[in-house]
Amino acid sequence: MSITHLPLIVHQMLFEAEATTPIEFGVQAGAQLRGALWEALREIVICNDSHAREPDHIRFCPRCRLILMESQESSRGVNPPRPFAIRPPLNFDAQNRIRIKTGEMLRFGINLYGDAEQLFPYVCQAVYKIGQIGVGYGRGTFVLRTAQALNPFTGKSQSVYADGKLRGLPGVPITHEAIVQTVQGWPNDQITLDWRTPCELTDQGRPASIPYLYIVMGRLIERCQMLELHYTPNPTETAQWRELHLHLQERAKAVELTDNATRWVHVMSGSRRSNSMKPISGLIGKARYRGDLSELRYWLAWGSVLHIGKNVVKGNGWYEISQMED
Ligand SMILES: [Zn+2]
Repeated sequence: MSITHLPLIVHQMLFEAEATTPIEFGVQAGAQLRGALWEALREIVICNDSHAREPDHIRFCPRCRLILMESQESSRGVNPPRPFAIRPPLNFDAQNRIRIKTGEMLRFGINLYGDAEQLFPYVCQAVYKIGQIGVGYGRGTFVLRTAQALNPFTGKSQSVYADGKLRGLPGVPITHEAIVQTVQGWPNDQITLDWRTPCELTDQGRPASIPYLYIVMGRLIERCQMLELHYTPNPTETAQWRELHLHLQERAKAVELTDNATRWVHVMSGSRRSNSMKPISGLIGKARYRGDLSELRYWLAWGSVLHIGKNVVKGNGWYEISQMED
């Protein structure tokens, strides 16, 4: 039997913060936010490093769950995906900078995967802390004003932080049911993916320069499989995922890329700690596809909240499903 159901839960959070000093990001805004989040989590969660490799500790320690999981080997012998992705601000100016003046609002999102809603108070506290530590070039500071949980598929939202107080755990999760309902209203024969942050998709060991749908589907199904394995209680067997992977790739090969307005953007991300630079480049822009999407659109809808490709944790691989002007 083929898999038709991803039992994952996603909490989509949107943070709004008021700049108390000017904030400036480069094109690697997601990486800058990720670095600040790490730093803030280190300050707010006390973690005894000598226990950091014990499974019981990892299960309960919010810092290890959010940060250190990459050092843990998963059963498939690769690094497990982190339980979140950053949704960086996208309001770049002509110089590819984001400049937020004192008193203006900074907006960005974080998507939490699996049962990570319990991690939300820590994430929220960490975002608050980033405002004090500072973020971006020159470490601009802010005051967190609001946090909302959103479900883009149902249109529901919930205030989870306001007036300096936590209002509750996020309670409008994105689920299989909401996605199934939404995609039923979509056309069966065409779709446009709009890459908001750089997406590097590997195809036969090399970065793909054209986002053919079979490549997108391949990386997407691998991502779904890994998130299911690590963040749901009863993951499906690898053989079944393999079968789904091959089946959907075949379907996707029959879908035509009719309009490719994507371009490759070169982005470097620096680490304050190791003082090194790493490329987080990828494709950005719109790609339109035509063909039989009946089995593919459900998974493509998931992809819009899961991000795909490399450097997801730094905000990469975020696409929206949109209408492309004729
Ligand atoms: Zn820990």
